[in-house]
Amino acid sequence: MTASVAVARRTERISYAVRDVVLVARQAQAAGVELLYLNIGDPNQFDFDTPPHIIDAICRALRDHKNGYAPSEGLPEALQAIRQDAEARGIAVRDVYVGNGGSECIEIALASLVNDGEAVLTPAPGYPLYSAVLAKLGAQEVPYLLDEDNGWQPDLNDIASKITHKTRAVVLINPNNPTGSICQRETLEGLLELAAKHRLVIFADEIYDKLVLDDDQQHISIASLRDDLPILTFNGLSKAYLGPGLRLGWCITSGPESMVRPLIEATHKFLRARLCASHPVQHAVAPALLGDASYLIEVRDKLRKRRDITVARLNAIDGISCVAPQGAFYAFPRLERYPQSDEQFVSELIRQTGVVCVHGQGFGQRPGTKHFRVVFLPPEETLNRAFDAIEGFLATR
Ligand code: PLP
Repeated sequence: MTASVAVARRTERISYAVRDVVLVARQAQAAGVELLYLNIGDPNQFDFDTPPHIIDAICRALRDHKNGYAPSEGLPEALQAIRQDAEARGIAVRDVYVGNGGSECIEIALASLVNDGEAVLTPAPGYPLYSAVLAKLGAQEVPYLLDEDNGWQPDLNDIASKITHKTRAVVLINPNNPTGSICQRETLEGLLELAAKHRLVIFADEIYDKLVLDDDQQHISIASLRDDLPILTFNGLSKAYLGPGLRLGWCITSGPESMVRPLIEATHKFLRARLCASHPVQHAVAPALLGDASYLIEVRDKLRKRRDITVARLNAIDGISCVAPQGAFYAFPRLERYPQSDEQFVSELIRQTGVVCVHGQGFGQRPGTKHFRVVFLPPEETLNRAFDAIEGFLATR
């Protein structure tokens, strides 16, 4: 008998439902089921292409011998473009760095701030990267509720009730994944008050900031509202710039110099230790941020139509209710009477119909409620086929 290799206990807390669900889907496919993927927030899987000026900039860099290591914090022209764009939106920028995706920037920032045993408040439902990184750091993840009855706004009372002397930071995902909600100004102001009172660092994940779907809605960067608090704002090329596989993201640090300097220096140690982000791709940052953004008009138009179909179709199904998303490309419908768990719903739906969604628990949604996430990136015809299938499936339950 050979003993198996013992793995680190920290891996027990790590799961990533968006991709885990693919295992169930592959089994169904092997059994002959045709799959309709509504599980992953990747625009390039559907009829959204990376804009040509972004692709050209990367190709040019590759051909122009830009394949060596870049500075650890990022290319000066990329950092300058990020700074310029952020300042134009009212953020008092202290530091900028780029990473291999927003994911790496978030991980480096958390690792630079949080000791093991300390706590970070994260939205429930929210994006599972935060749980995975906090598990890796041995830090405590403390979920706070988004209020479904209030358009999925963060519940400030719940946040206040969960702050302890161990709490170091609060994560805000705005627009949110998986609900597509956009934070109202009052919510942001309330959160800033709490952060100021309890000396918390705000992690503002704004990767969907340009994907606001309605003309009467506006995305407000929380860092633009106050310059006297430490705030880290994350963004990247994956979503609004339609290049998730480019793996390029960034972090903007704002707040008083005296408050944020040690954090900036700690962060730069990690940045140096991992050498740099993809060099040729960094040449696309300035063209992306400062160049032609007209492609976004068509992107938003398509998403608005697909969102409207999604909300109308889901709300017409007996046993489902869905708060209309205002941004990003996700809806988070509620299962009102389904007898089993949302995870069982999703698995059974895949096996019976081939429609692949992700269960609400995979985003840390609170136990006792049942939800699933729908990605409304696919064309209307695909969405309608998926909703026909979900309707038929629930009618038989
Ligand atoms: N933050 C949120 C809220 C996301 O939804 C995602 C990806 O889906 C990321 C961060 C990761 O972004 P990146 O592709 O830049 O690593």
